[in-house]
Amino acid sequence: MEKFSGKAIFKGVAVGKIVFGAKDKQQVRRTKIEDASAETQRFEEAKERALKELGSLYEKALKEVGEDNAAIFEVHSMLLEDEDFNDAIKDKIVNQQVNAEYAVAKTGDDYSEMFANMEDEYFRARATDIKDISERVISQLTGGTGLSALSEPSIIVAEDLAPSETIQLDKDKLLAFVTEFGSANSHTAILARTMNLPALIGVKIDKSWNGKTGIVDGYNGTVIIDPDNETIEEYKKIQQKDKEKRELLKSLKGKKTVSKSGKTVHLYANIGKPSDLGSVIENDAEGIGLFRSEFLYLDSKDFPTEEEQFSAYKKVAETMAGKKVIIRTLDLGADKQVDYFNLGQEDNPAMGYRAIRICLDRQDIFKTQLRALLRASAFGNISIMYPMIISVDEVRQIKEIISGVMDDLRAEGVKFKENIEQGIMIETPAAVIMSYELAKEVDFFSIGTNDLTQYTLAIDRQNSKLDNINDSHHPAVLRSIKTVVENAHKAGIWAGICGELGADTSLTKTFLEYGVDELSVSPSFVLPVRKAVTEAD
Ligand code: PEP
Ligand code: MG
Repeated sequence: MEKFSGKAIFKGVAVGKIVFGAKDKQQVRRTKIEDASAETQRFEEAKERALKELGSLYEKALKEVGEDNAAIFEVHSMLLEDEDFNDAIKDKIVNQQVNAEYAVAKTGDDYSEMFANMEDEYFRARATDIKDISERVISQLTGGTGLSALSEPSIIVAEDLAPSETIQLDKDKLLAFVTEFGSANSHTAILARTMNLPALIGVKIDKSWNGKTGIVDGYNGTVIIDPDNETIEEYKKIQQKDKEKRELLKSLKGKKTVSKSGKTVHLYANIGKPSDLGSVIENDAEGIGLFRSEFLYLDSKDFPTEEEQFSAYKKVAETMAGKKVIIRTLDLGADKQVDYFNLGQEDNPAMGYRAIRICLDRQDIFKTQLRALLRASAFGNISIMYPMIISVDEVRQIKEIISGVMDDLRAEGVKFKENIEQGIMIETPAAVIMSYELAKEVDFFSIGTNDLTQYTLAIDRQNSKLDNINDSHHPAVLRSIKTVVENAHKAGIWAGICGELGADTSLTKTFLEYGVDELSVSPSFVLPVRKAVTEAD
């Protein structure tokens, strides 16, 4: 039994099998091998396992997202079985006497570059598929598991997880996350909280843990490898106690979120995709305060079509049956990257080409999303929210674009909510300073404290080295919240908080004093926040 420490980003305890996700390309080193035929055999076996994995992914996708979307996994299997591709890998192993990992990585890079330079759009798009399949084979070779094809509930241990990887994991098969890198305010951490999973970062991980039993203790920030029976029993008791606490909170279900002195707060939930709705309903959220629509893009191999987006938004609106559903338009960029967007490298992506900046530049993408949102608004109580706003001018540009989209829909005879509520996120110091003017332009404000803290304190939220001073309780952040709420009320609009700080119950009383009208939190925090509101004066 061995114990390792890290930093907990979500409380709770998990006991189960560890799956090591070795997908880091940098781990591929060129080494000289002695026995080329044994190495070729290693490659063949890894390829077979990768093909099997693709087969199960195809079946899963077929059930969950339909034949058209599942077809990509068939394409991947075909590419992986391509004779030229296989010959090129084996040729390197035999003639250059190199390890299979290197041969696959090098061949993958060569092929991917070749496809990327082709004239035909279809073939160009295959460049990322080639990268994907070679990474899948490499992770089989390095003993890591293709994370998207977990066969049983598991604790995921990885160097780092990108939001696009996390979102693809099968929630029912996840017990906890443990990573070496990543920061407490990253989107991967937010996803762990949305999924209600114990999670640790900053743990010195080891490949040899793969397949062993582990315990993740999100209270003490420790992971225990190969625990003895006594320790397992001890932790099962903690799990039982947690369950009892959750049961107690259930008594708050169906109750109003009102303080002792009668202040009412709208208590909503944050989600990333329609499948999060189960926990929204289970935790009795009064609506959706933030649907991070970019996760539809992160969970996709190509731009989600208008129809795909429409059906996701419609599903959320219908499931919430008339309750408010605030959908945030695309907030890609910074740590949320997708290959098909080709956003390119930037020196400072957090301050770069992201969110509304992309949408105002790539209006084709923005208009597709607005059409889908407006069409879905006919099926429930949808509001639209725009991220990363810095000026009144941006809001006016957005209004012009959406008004054009509305004209098109009207001309086509498509129904939508004419007076749809539109708001902005306040997550830049510029938006705080301009909040008086901005409030006159929109229907509501939602304060994104994750980014607002990052930009106010000039602390990269992705940088775990700064987690100790990344303090969202900083007076500058709290004063900003107060100012924004005051300016919203002066213009007669409402203001809420949808960043992680909204769930911080040590501040619930302060937020009530500021007059915050709404709090939107990860589903698992809805009932604890309701408890804090009902106990406040
Ligand atoms: C925020 O910045 O607080 C926010 C809610 O948006 P995101 O975390 O997705 O950047
Ligand atoms: Mg943000």
